[in-house]
Amino acid sequence: MTVEQTLADLVAIDSVSSRSNAEMISYLETRCAAFGFETKTFSHIDENGIEKINLVAFTSGQESKSQPPLSASGAVQIELTLVGHTDTVPYDPNWIEALTLTEKDGKLFGRGACDTKAFIAAALTAIEPIDLGRLKKPLALVFSSDEEIGCLGAKRLADAKPFTARYAIVGEPTSLQPMRAGKGYCLAEFIIRGTEAHSAYPQLGASAIFRAARLIEQIEKIADQLKEDQREGFEPPYTTLNIGVIKGGTAKNIVAGECRFTLEWRTIPGQASAHVLNLVGQSIDELKKDDSEFLCEIDAHRFDESFETPADSPLVEFLERASGQSSATVAFGTEAPSMISLGADAVVFGPGDIRVAHRTGEFVPLRQLNQCVQVLRQAIEKFCG
Ligand SMILES: [Zn+2]
Repeated sequence: MTVEQTLADLVAIDSVSSRSNAEMISYLETRCAAFGFETKTFSHIDENGIEKINLVAFTSGQESKSQPPLSASGAVQIELTLVGHTDTVPYDPNWIEALTLTEKDGKLFGRGACDTKAFIAAALTAIEPIDLGRLKKPLALVFSSDEEIGCLGAKRLADAKPFTARYAIVGEPTSLQPMRAGKGYCLAEFIIRGTEAHSAYPQLGASAIFRAARLIEQIEKIADQLKEDQREGFEPPYTTLNIGVIKGGTAKNIVAGECRFTLEWRTIPGQASAHVLNLVGQSIDELKKDDSEFLCEIDAHRFDESFETPADSPLVEFLERASGQSSATVAFGTEAPSMISLGADAVVFGPGDIRVAHRTGEFVPLRQLNQCVQVLRQAIEKFCG
């Protein structure tokens, strides 16, 4: 099958994150089994009662014929893992060709054509002519669920640890530029309490908004302090903070009883996700010295790790050579940290431009799609052949 035919099949399957990805997994499992892969699915029911599945298709490799099956012991060591997420963002119902791959001026249009079904189609096409039985080292394909809503499938797989991986290429639209590092993404909500009172008698209450303002002033100082710890290759090269939403009080003549704000921070590699929260915690302790009733509840609900694969990793060097592009860093969240937690040197790489992903009319340039097939085929030969 040509890479376009495979991509057309993938685009035709509606795999928006809110739906079950079972149909997509069934298609991929059939293709992988036909190539000679062993396959294993990891299914779970999400919070809306919908089945979501991760699929791992793998070879044992001649040098490790006695490998045990994939299991929670993580005993299986995979040499090269190619990772593609099966879900897409939603599409506008007015985009009538969203599920029909359409070619125009060397570009292939369709929902997911760029993010990230193009990479999946390239991986399947790269493998098709290869005799898997002669590969010396284990190769795996990982097809994950729910990437677009927080890389949930890959995180579940990393927690289950069914295998360890040496090298992983995580498919995302990077215009075939190898991305070897990325900032983390963390989010917390702060709920500051006060005591309501008539605003003519403020001494009878305690303003949650004044309290929040004092804390926010400290957070701005922390943002400045964080600029001292820098990592090359990032723009800007330090951890950034943002208070994007604030809400507080009920009326102009009531001393505010509650104030909430969100704090988002994007960490540089090598800095723990909790570092910012620890600094804010110290500020809260300081504020409590002057105001013993200072009450602050913190609901920290997201800690996506940063990642970094060394520039001299054989995978980075290979992808730089094969693509003719030097490596860089990504600004968006990916499944790379999950692969790193499985032991891999991970690089984010794939055809298409992230700036057209998630849009009506997203597309992948056919030339890049074909080039990706060649690069992935060379990668399999180099690392597993
Ligand atoms: Zn994606």
